[in-house]
Amino acid sequence: MRLFFGLPFDAETCAAVRRVQSRLEECAQRGRFTDPGNFHLTLAFLGEVEEERLKTLGTILRENPIPPIDLLFDRLGQFGGGICYLAPRTCPTLLKGQAALESALRRAGFELEERLYTPHLTLGRKVVFSAGKDLSGSLEPPVPAHSSGAALFHSHRVGGCLRYTRLEPDFRSEPDA
Ligand code: ATP
Ligand code: MG
Repeated sequence: MRLFFGLPFDAETCAAVRRVQSRLEECAQRGRFTDPGNFHLTLAFLGEVEEERLKTLGTILRENPIPPIDLLFDRLGQFGGGICYLAPRTCPTLLKGQAALESALRRAGFELEERLYTPHLTLGRKVVFSAGKDLSGSLEPPVPAHSSGAALFHSHRVGGCLRYTRLEPDFRSEPDA
């Protein structure tokens, strides 16, 4: 199963992020925009993992928790490929928590990518801005964000749609709705 650790956000945060995403959509000629039900901030992407390893992932998360956390998204950035994202103001608690989780995963033999970790919430991919409408830069006003803390997600398709299902603490996959 395809898995990643990430931060989910509460409904109020997702609604505020959705408002920024709507502005982005208005300024874009085209793009593939993240379903608001899938908004998250990736902490560590695991890729394909055998189901037998779920218990180990549970132990790693219990030993390296990221407790409830408040962030402030204050910048709209772009990666190559037209990936548009919201970036949080530097948060040492987040960076320390992510680094500890990543180290524990590597020690347990999970192969993670070597790229420097850049916290971001993806709003859209393959985004092409209309002329003169590039929204990148500091976000006014910034978006306060609340997360209940690190969680494990299952990335899968349900009825053809990509869905990130949060796995419950005992890490049994929820039945597909
Ligand atoms: P799709 O791959 O279908 O375009 P997606 O990238 O949103 O959709 P996944 O590939 O399952 O879905 O990725 C889940 C999360 O992990 C996303 O936030 C994605 O950006 C992130 N992710 C995917 N691959 C990597 C990677 N190699 N390194 C770091 N993060 C990744
Ligand atoms: Mg992907």
